Amino acid sequence: MHDAHSSIDHQAIETHIMAERMHQYMARQRILVAAGPIASAYQVFTKWQVADPQLLFAWWLTLLCVDAVTVIHTTLYLRQAAPPSPAAMASWRNRQIALQSLAGLIWGGSALLNYDLHTIDMPAALVLVTVSTVAVIALLPFRRAAFSWLLSVWVIPLFLLLSTGTPGHIHLALGICLLVGTQGLYFMNASHHLIDSLRKQFKADALSKALRESAERIHELATRDDLTGLYNRRQGMKLLGDWMGQPRQRAPGGMAERDSLGLLLLDVDFFKRVNDSHGHPAGDEVLREVARRLRSAVRDGDTVARVGGEEFMVLLPSVGADMALELAQRLRTCVAHQPVQLPDTALDVTISIGVAVTHSAEGIEAAIARADKALYAAKEGGRNRVVLAPQ
Ligand code: GH3
Ligand code: MG
Ligand code: MG
Repeated sequence: MHDAHSSIDHQAIETHIMAERMHQYMARQRILVAAGPIASAYQVFTKWQVADPQLLFAWWLTLLCVDAVTVIHTTLYLRQAAPPSPAAMASWRNRQIALQSLAGLIWGGSALLNYDLHTIDMPAALVLVTVSTVAVIALLPFRRAAFSWLLSVWVIPLFLLLSTGTPGHIHLALGICLLVGTQGLYFMNASHHLIDSLRKQFKADALSKALRESAERIHELATRDDLTGLYNRRQGMKLLGDWMGQPRQRAPGGMAERDSLGLLLLDVDFFKRVNDSHGHPAGDEVLREVARRLRSAVRDGDTVARVGGEEFMVLLPSVGADMALELAQRLRTCVAHQPVQLPDTALDVTISIGVAVTHSAEGIEAAIARADKALYAAKEGGRNRVVLAPQ
């Protein structure tokens, strides 16, 4: 039995989740870093006149360079047509984390620009708090990225604040630790939700795909004949019933054929002998070959079904008697014209065909009875022939 659950590839789902997390990480990083120069310009502004201008510009330039490399790195990743292999993805992620950590250190390093034991540069500290908070939101896909970001931003300022030993600086350091710690807790929760919802989404997608495939398989089993791959009896009858029940438009000028259907019943001649002389597997192979020949000889839109052991039904929509006879002859010769090759012999196989040209008003049973009668006449008449049923 085909079980929907067993056909879900959990490994593929995990790979999908990782690819999606990487995509989100890179895309968010790119947007964030592209906006970075505004924040760093503001930091330059807060330190204007209190820091050495040359140092300040060197700081700014270094940060802009790292930002530019980051934009290039994320863009190269996002431009790839397909997600890379898990190993390559890990390298991209590690490089990206290294780049953002470098940017974090430079941001934190801005505290060194006008370091003073006695005053606290509140505006600059606020810019840092804002930058670290905003950036962490963009790092939701990877906890490791977020923690290395927070660490790299705050390690220098916290070290400086704590090393002064003055109460004001120590209080500020504690406040920052509290803020960053709280942020970290909320962050863990939000990151978990993001990854969990991705997992649920991909699982639901995989499940619905598996269900769709199961439904297709069930439909296949219900409508197809196992041996030949043709429609089975039930589906053949259903298609005949559908045709009978469909309202049809008559073309102007009265194309009567539009409302007529060639109904062919075909039976392999002396098929029992094939089984008796060559065995059942040989009989099966003959049936498969007859099915292949019938299918290759009909037009697109015609229907071939296996309706019994060695009996077939062919539906030829929109044909009149002449055309139905012509197509039936074509099917007959297509089977008879060359022997069916078996592993150790070649067999001459022929079929007899009863043809009824029917209209939607006639009804299924009456039409089949007429075709069956014509088939019987073809058998009586010597087999390997086509007989048209009278109207
Ligand atoms: P006729 O020309 O009168 O149709 O003769 P016939 O031998 O074909 O007629 P009959 O209906 O007596 O034989 C049909 C045989 O088809 C009987 C059965 O063993 C065989 N048959 C039915 N289904 C299968 C099948 O799936 N595989 C094989 N190998 N044989 C089958
Ligand atoms: Mg038969
Ligand atoms: Mg037969």
